[in-house]
This record gives sequence, C-alpha cells and structure tokens, in this order.
Amino acid sequence: MGIDRREFIRIAGLSTLLGLGGKGAFELLRPGQVEAAMEPAPGALEGKRWAMVVNMQKLDDATASKCAEACHRVHNVPDFHSPKDPKDALDPAVINRYEIKWLWAEHFHNAFPGEEQEMPEKIKALPFLLLCNHCNNPPCVRVCPTKATFRRDDGIVMMDMHRCIGCRFCMAGCPYAARSFNWRDPRPFVKDVFPGYPTREIGVVEKCTFCAERLAQGLMPACVEASRGALVFGDLLDEKSKVRETLKKYFTIRRKTHLGTNPQVYYIV
Ligand code: SF4
Ligand code: SF4
Repeated sequence: MGIDRREFIRIAGLSTLLGLGGKGAFELLRPGQVEAAMEPAPGALEGKRWAMVVNMQKLDDATASKCAEACHRVHNVPDFHSPKDPKDALDPAVINRYEIKWLWAEHFHNAFPGEEQEMPEKIKALPFLLLCNHCNNPPCVRVCPTKATFRRDDGIVMMDMHRCIGCRFCMAGCPYAARSFNWRDPRPFVKDVFPGYPTREIGVVEKCTFCAERLAQGLMPACVEASRGALVFGDLLDEKSKVRETLKKYFTIRRKTHLGTNPQVYYIV
C-alpha cells in the first residue's frame, strides 16, 4: 500500500489538469517538502508547533476504533447510545443529533470531498481518522466573540468551556466539522467518569485539544498511545522530532488546504 513516485506524479498531473494547480481540497506534499519550509527565517522567534501525522499505511478499522475509544474515554466524551441509567435512554431517531466527536473515522470521500478521482481505490476505503487540525490560521478562533477558543503559542487550538456562550460561531467557522455542541446534558451518558478531565455541561462546544492536559504531564496524546505506531505526534519546529523525520520520508496530504487554514494534521497515504 502507499503512494510511490509514479502515483505521486500522476496525481499531481491530474490536479494540474483539473485546474487545481497542485493545491486542491487536499495538498500533496513531497517527502522533505515540509522540512524545506521549516528552515527558520532570520530573526524567527523561538517556539514550538505541535503536529500529528496519521500513517494510513498502518491504520486498519480496529486500530482506528481503539484510537477513538482511547480519546473519548480519557476526555469523558458522552456515548448517547449508552446511558448510565436506563431511564435516560434516548430515542434512536434523535441520537445522531446529539453526537459528540473528538476523533472519528471517515472514508476518503468524506475526509477529502471532491478529490476521489485522484486517489487509488485501495486508499479510498481506509478509515481516515479525523480530528481538529489545530490550524495555524484557525477560522474558529477568529469568529469566537468571547475568546473561548484561542490558539496557544505552541499551535494548540484550545477551548475554555467557562467562556463558551454556546453561540456556535466557531462551528460555523470550522470547515472540518471538528467541533461538537452539547445539545443536552452529557453527564448521564458518561458511564465511567475519568477523573483526569472535567465533564462538560449542556450548551458548550468541545473538540480535540491535542491532549494538552496529557502533554503537560509528559504524556503522549491518548490516540497516539493507542495507535500501535499509526499516529506520530511531535514538534514541527524540532528538526530531530519524529514528526519531522516522518514528513521527510513520506508523501503526505492535508485536508482543504485551499482554504488557507494551514492544518497541522498530515496523512501518509
Ligand atoms: S480544524 Fe476547525 S476547530 Fe480545529 S483549529 Fe481548524 S478551524 Fe478550528
Ligand atoms: S490528540 Fe488527544 S484529544 Fe486529540 S484526538 Fe488524539 S486523543 Fe483525542
């Protein structure tokens, strides 16, 4: 599996033919391309930038489910199919409306809409893990009227639940559907509350935080730990990091780069 040089040239050619100029709803990056762009400019400020690489060559359905389960477990993400008390059971017809997702899998046509014709069939059926891209230029941050969502210096786009007024502007601003709104009290649907992370309440927005709370404790993100090597996480500004090494070696794509968001989740296909 995986894209070789010939396939890369074919896809890049198709993009040009289709008038995408190599930058369509996804952007195909050559091995080492990110490396070249990371050369510090004279006078550049010191800093860190967290990024993730999802290696689709190593990700099967079972591993993708394990990653999502690990994430949702340590962040007390509610499962509306499974209430703590049977009396809170919901009508199956409305459950989807309430769904909260931090990390989830989609096939290629949903992850990279409009780009299907450019991708080999074998790749289209893979479980692409989707999450907040921790965009360098995040529209969700720009539109939030209360600064409840903000970008840290290390690139993590955070949520402050206490400042969130539930206007959902950030959801409208995010082109990746990476945010979920608590339409109802999630607490009755968190079976085993994980003590290391707060539960939320009705009326606030939430999403992946690159496990900022775990990083603060010197731990890798929960999904990375559960991924059996399929997810790589690290500092893009550290040339010795595994993320940089990986991006030097493989072709990668990112989602909807034509929007100028500069997402920090890369996919090896
Ligand atoms: S993926 Fe969406 S929620 Fe995450 S930083 Fe980008 S715009 Fe914001
Ligand atoms: S980085 Fe953490 S919060 Fe984000 S998807 Fe992975 S486990 Fe979930």
